Amino acid sequence: MKFSEIPILMYHEIRDLNNPWCISQKEFCRQMNLLKKEDYKTISLTRLKNGIKNNEDTDEKFIVITFDDGYEGVYSKAYPILRDNGFVATLYVVPSWIDGKEIPLEGQYSTFMSWNNLKELSNHGYDIGSHTFSHQWLVKLENEELRKEIELADVAIKKKLGLDVKHFCYPYGSFNEQIRELVIGRYDTAVSTIQNFSKIVGAYSRQWVMYDTSLEQFKRLLIEPADQENPKWYNDIIGKLQKSIIISNSDREILIQHAKSKEPYESCAILIGEEIERGWRVIEVFLTENIEKSEINFTVSNEQLLEGYKMAEEKGLDVVGIFHSLPKSLPSPSNTDIKFMKGNPIPWIIYSGLTKEMKAYLLDSEIIQILIKQN
Ligand SMILES: [Zn+2]
Repeated sequence: MKFSEIPILMYHEIRDLNNPWCISQKEFCRQMNLLKKEDYKTISLTRLKNGIKNNEDTDEKFIVITFDDGYEGVYSKAYPILRDNGFVATLYVVPSWIDGKEIPLEGQYSTFMSWNNLKELSNHGYDIGSHTFSHQWLVKLENEELRKEIELADVAIKKKLGLDVKHFCYPYGSFNEQIRELVIGRYDTAVSTIQNFSKIVGAYSRQWVMYDTSLEQFKRLLIEPADQENPKWYNDIIGKLQKSIIISNSDREILIQHAKSKEPYESCAILIGEEIERGWRVIEVFLTENIEKSEINFTVSNEQLLEGYKMAEEKGLDVVGIFHSLPKSLPSPSNTDIKFMKGNPIPWIIYSGLTKEMKAYLLDSEIIQILIKQN
């Protein structure tokens, strides 16, 4: 077997939960036992890289196991099984998630490992790689933000674990040529979410192991490049992640002032504008009253709602977003928000009086944070 044909398996969480990224401990155990029975040995990505560089061949059955995001089940459920089989893995962690803050809703299906857990795994031969500081869709970041996402992660891992970071994983598989060049310059290896055996420098492909991967399919993943289209639900998420809502600085200022003037109550507004290729552009904001005068809820009267829609129509525009503020909590959707976001596929923009941040969300099958662009 050529080193360039060694499969890299992509896992997320080991947990009995109905989520595409979660594999039960029982199933994981069957998969690892199969690897053991078939004489597979795990190798590090550095070993893989060197083998590829030297164009090596091997008679051994080598495999690389990776886990993205740093979920807790990797420590509590996967680690004992890997240890029993004499296997090690590479983990890609998101430092701001380990500290338990700023976890986007699509990443919240589980809890995360602690730095102590990671330290222990690292002491047992696991590689701890970077999955960036806060798991952003990298291609839409400005240069400065991109640099920060990458550097802050390395600094945090170095500080907490005393390790130089040698491996990297693109969040959501998002990268372009410029990002790949940057990553190649900093790390020994990097992995993407493309499904096959290819080993492009700075973006090795991986074989996905998912909640519905049968043992038969798992066996095939070891010998045949998957080379398949990503599932539709995944592409839908990726499609939405690429969207953004554009708001002018002056409209943004109007919304923030509106929020401040209504404190301690929640404020609300209807955003009027147009749909554009990669999202929405706000052209006008229609400030509305929160008829509940509540600190934790808001309701726009039917009259104002109609007025907002009429205003949009008269100008040949659409309602492209709902704005509201949360005077005393973080800028993420409440359960009431989620209820109203259902069946309303426009962005919800939330301003937090607590952190002074403005964030935008979309809900479909799950909640996705999208970027707010200013102009
Ligand atoms: Zn991830």
